[in-house]
Amino acid sequence: MSEFFKRDDCRLCKSKNLKLVVDMGAVPLGDDFVTKEQFDRPQGEYPLEINFCEDCGLLQSTTVIDPDIIYSNYLYETSSSLGLMQHFEDYAAYLMDKINPPQGALTVDIGSNIGALLKGLKAHGMNVLGIDPAKALAEKATKNGLETWAAFFNREMAEKIRDEKGAATIITANNVMANIDDLTDIMEGITTLLADDGVFVFETGYMMDTVQNVVIDNLTHEHLCYFSVLPLQKFFEAHGLELIDIKRIPTKGGSIRGTVQRKGGGRPVTTNVTGLATLERELGFEGMAPFTVFAKLCEQMKSEIRELLTDLKAQGKKVGAYGASIGATSLIYYMGLGDLIDCLYDDNPVKIGMYSPVQHIPVHDSAMIYEHRPDYVLNLAWRYAGPIYRRHQKYIEEGGRFISCLPTVSIFSK
Ligand SMILES: [Zn+2]
Repeated sequence: MSEFFKRDDCRLCKSKNLKLVVDMGAVPLGDDFVTKEQFDRPQGEYPLEINFCEDCGLLQSTTVIDPDIIYSNYLYETSSSLGLMQHFEDYAAYLMDKINPPQGALTVDIGSNIGALLKGLKAHGMNVLGIDPAKALAEKATKNGLETWAAFFNREMAEKIRDEKGAATIITANNVMANIDDLTDIMEGITTLLADDGVFVFETGYMMDTVQNVVIDNLTHEHLCYFSVLPLQKFFEAHGLELIDIKRIPTKGGSIRGTVQRKGGGRPVTTNVTGLATLERELGFEGMAPFTVFAKLCEQMKSEIRELLTDLKAQGKKVGAYGASIGATSLIYYMGLGDLIDCLYDDNPVKIGMYSPVQHIPVHDSAMIYEHRPDYVLNLAWRYAGPIYRRHQKYIEEGGRFISCLPTVSIFSK
């Protein structure tokens, strides 16, 4: 595979009736921040176009970047995200309660990262195995007693697991489904590995939350799909599976947790599934209308922010931005902020001292706000606006101003 390719069909139903919703332009890998010494390293910018499938309703990106480029040096650890460790502890308890697996049954987590979910399941007496392509993370998890194979999960890998460990009672995949181009291969892996009475449970971003809340920073190269119930139901059915439960959860700006079994398996389909499917239909998500509104709101936010920052720049104001994440890169590129902000501020020690992908905007410790004294700080980490504004109360009291871009453009000052 060359660095990337563009597909012309739907990732779930293979239809070619795709309609463009948002064109983000050419965007690099959002988390590819570099050191000064790495400035010469070539970094690609790839087209990021979000399309809607008129046949099954899936919202998706058509550009597929070679996963080796994205994940071989992947450094993101679950523990670095606020509240996620607690989330996985609760998740393990939920699985034990809802699925009620026999003690010592095999649980396989696809894209297990450092093993946050496996740790909880092991504590409940389950036999656990993690699969994750990031070598460093797999080694770290294994060292902590959570056996993890550094590999991509597919049918071949599923056969290997089944041969060595037997069928799995629970297979989980959290924040993984949206990142995989060949979902058919994954589904074949799951049907190969899953015990007859087993379940597959996944968490993934919910399309309706992204669209209704205009979460533009969710649109990244890492997210190939923005799932919803209607296209997933059809897709699972085509693989001899059925969606039996769905739950909306607040993680990552709005997600869903789905439970799937072999078609006609022993568990009933809950009213949650039919309820959310009905809601999606009622809100028109089988057609283009809600996506047209979404695209319009994206454009509106972009022009408001650009106008404001161009104006401030013309007045000679110093403007920084808060947040050095995958999502921040999407926002910077989509709104064309490269020349309008002086630097980025962040609190993550992994990012401080680094430079943004391609444009090399420096990332400073947020404490530097008090030395630089920017007139305005554009908050790209808008989901954490509350904690950030509280932490930098002093900046605000001394006359500093934060600019919120999402959910609406507004200025936060004394
Ligand atoms: Zn489709």
